[in-house]
Amino acid sequence: MHIETLAIHAGLAVEAGTGALAPSIHLSTTFERDSDGSYPRGFIYARTDNPNRQSLEACLSALEGGQAVAFASGSAASMAVFQSLNPGEHVLCPQDAYYGTSKQLRELLLRWGLEVSFVDMTDLSALERSIQKNTKLLWIETPSNPLLKVVDLRAVVDLAHSAGARVACDNTWATPILQRPIEWGADCVVHATTKYLGGHSDVSGGVVITASEDDLFQRIRALQTAGGAVPSPFDCWLVRRGIKTLPFRVRIQSEQALRVAEVLRTHPSVAAVHYPGLSVHPSHEVAARQMKAYGGMLSFQVHGGAEKAMSVAAKVNLFTRATSLGGLESLIEHRASIEGEGTRTPPDLLRVSIGLEHVEDLIEDLDQALG
Ligand SMILES: *Cc1c(COP(=O)(O)O)cnc(C)c1O
Repeated sequence: MHIETLAIHAGLAVEAGTGALAPSIHLSTTFERDSDGSYPRGFIYARTDNPNRQSLEACLSALEGGQAVAFASGSAASMAVFQSLNPGEHVLCPQDAYYGTSKQLRELLLRWGLEVSFVDMTDLSALERSIQKNTKLLWIETPSNPLLKVVDLRAVVDLAHSAGARVACDNTWATPILQRPIEWGADCVVHATTKYLGGHSDVSGGVVITASEDDLFQRIRALQTAGGAVPSPFDCWLVRRGIKTLPFRVRIQSEQALRVAEVLRTHPSVAAVHYPGLSVHPSHEVAARQMKAYGGMLSFQVHGGAEKAMSVAAKVNLFTRATSLGGLESLIEHRASIEGEGTRTPPDLLRVSIGLEHVEDLIEDLDQALG
């Protein structure tokens, strides 16, 4: 079935006892055993599994074409992927990975004995030179944050697999509507469902979807149930509901982001626009090959440095100054100041998440703020 149909129906059915279309929220932490000691209805204890999580995982499995394991945040999901490795193993991570992901690797996982190198994944020969004998995981994030760099999924998967390493792809920005990394050979996909999948800026969540029910899946499942960073039943319910409109939200957000990018490109106060949908983007052709559209995220640099960037963010009326992305409301953010010391983000850069307001209103707001 098509992804629009899966987004509505996968993992959901009319409720047998009541005929309810909307699923119930099962708050129970524990489930009854039969007199013979068995659990004929399949559920034992809420951390191990519960109906709302099962429904969400079935849906996410269908959307990405793999086996989903849901977590309490995107960070808990990436943590589980790293913790599935053994001490002494080596991870290759993009230099411009989501700030929280590289922070996990630098501040938490080095101490646990993982080795980590940060590379530019758009430079395939540099990437190849960075692969070591003990490299077991290549982490991909495409498009990247906040410079919208695009990594060639097929090329990186081929490099990794020929070196005996696995590939994990953080697909938060693209969503399965625009890009399905498992089809390009990725071994697992990670999402912060906090963003587009939830879609309404009202729930934190994460997921790891493995390509098959292999040893990686078993380890991720054990990290979920024994590690305990699980989403609540209501969290699962909200993400599952958000997914119903995902295909249409993401498509319109992508169309609007392209239009905003085109307008910004010709604005005299704008020095550069980073959006893979623009034909001048250095990886436009790779993006066109592996993505159905280019997503609702873009960033731009202004003439006049950090001061001008901060003043543009200060002057918006319709955009909200806030971090995060993927919701219905358009957001603008000065990334360098939120990332703080050691950031690689240019100080004159603003990142925007395009929402579902009318695109002409968004353009008018940016135009008056740029002056
Ligand atoms: C937000 C985000 C995360 C982390 O998700 P949380 O739910 O905030 O823990 C990971 N990767 C990307 C690309 C993100 O945008």
